[in-house]
This record gives sequence, C-alpha cells and structure tokens, in this order.
Amino acid sequence: MISSGEIFLLLLIVSAPFFGSFISTLLIRVERKKPILKPVFSTCSDCGHQILLMHKIPILSHLVLKGACYRCKTPFSYTYITLETGFLLSSVIAILVLFNETFDKIVFTIFLAWIFLPLSIFDIQQQRLPDLATIPIACAGLLQGYLLPYVTFFDCLLGFILGFVLSAAVSILYSKIRRQTGLGWGDVKLIAAIGALIGWQLVPWFIFLASTAAMIYVILQMIIYGKQAGKERIPFGPFLCGSSWLVWIYSIS
Ligand SMILES: [Zn+2]
Repeated sequence: MISSGEIFLLLLIVSAPFFGSFISTLLIRVERKKPILKPVFSTCSDCGHQILLMHKIPILSHLVLKGACYRCKTPFSYTYITLETGFLLSSVIAILVLFNETFDKIVFTIFLAWIFLPLSIFDIQQQRLPDLATIPIACAGLLQGYLLPYVTFFDCLLGFILGFVLSAAVSILYSKIRRQTGLGWGDVKLIAAIGALIGWQLVPWFIFLASTAAMIYVILQMIIYGKQAGKERIPFGPFLCGSSWLVWIYSIS
C-alpha cells in the first residue's frame, strides 16, 4: 500500500522539471529586463513565436528540438535545461539518499535545492546575490530551527552570527590588503543565511568545501585557458550553495 507521503513525493518528482522550467522563464525575463509575468505564455526571445504546448514538455522537448526554437532555430537559454534537470536530479537524489528519513526532512531538502539552484544561476548571470533571496533563506533557517527538531534555534542563530562574522572578517581583510573586492557582501549574507539554516557546527565545513571547490575550479581554468583566467572574478554563490546542500544532506542522513 502506497502512503500519501509517497504519492506526494512521486508527484514532486514528476512536477520538478516543470517547476524548473517555470523558474527558468522568470530568471531569463529578469536577466533580459523584461516584465516577469508577461506574456503569460512563453515566446521565442528572437522571433516572438509562441511556443507550442507540445514543445513545453521540460527536458524531452529540449532533446526533440535539439535545444533551439522550432521556427527560427535560435538556441534556448542554457538556464532551461540546467534548472529542469537540476530540479529533477536534486529531488531524486534527496529521496534516494534520505529514503529511510522522515517525510518532512526529504521535502525540506528538496525545497533547499530548488532555492539554491536558481540562486546559483542568478549569481552566474548577474554576478550578485539579491537580498530578496538571502534574507528569506536566513528567515527560513531560523524558522526551521524553531519548528523542526533537527537543529536547535540557538544553533541556527549561532550559525547565522558565525557565518556573518567569519565571512565579513575575510571580506574586509581581503579588501584592505589587496585593495579590491574578494568576497562580496552578497556572499557574506548568503554564508550567514546558510549558517542559520544548518547550524554553527557545520559552518566551517561548508565554507571549507566551497573554498576548496572554487580553488580547484580556478586551477582548472588556469590549466585550460592560461594564467590570465586566474585573475577573472568567479561567482562564489554556486560553490556555497552546492557545498552547503551536500553538508546539509550529510548532517541529517
Ligand atoms: Zn524563434
């Protein structure tokens, strides 16, 4: 007998790519400075052709149309396929890894991935992390510390303070020594918000993991594109989001 929780998780998996597709449309409209909710139905950014219903099936239509508009062949933004597959994969991974855990743990972990993925794309495209995202994440962190039994409210509050103090100190020191921005204030706010979400005990770990991953990425860029690539500014948000999601899963599983 399938429980109502299992049916909900199944529906969540099926709907994940559709949510990814919807959030992609919103992100692309923000990136192109277009009205967020108009037009209601997606159109091709190049020829304005209204996208057919059968061409809106996430992932599948991308494969059938070879990632380009049916009429003018303008390639679709990479945001679509990244978020459609990202939403689906993160949901499947969360359910598989946390299979023996409680329903609310699994749903909360999926919810986190669905916030972190668009935020990472936004940081890559806009080179900034908006307060509109980091402040609600901090609030959600403190709220779950109060409502859910996994991390205490006190640990979440300490996580927020530790994340903020550590990253703000690094940001200020770096800009004083190097006379340029190393760690932006958007990153500082995101680190504090994640600290509020996963508790102070995990803050050093996710910062360490994110820094290591970013360093490996820069080294690889330098190997492939030459030393100059090492001087280019890289968005730190995706590394912070990815590492904190992994540390979160590890801590609750
Ligand atoms: Zn077109």
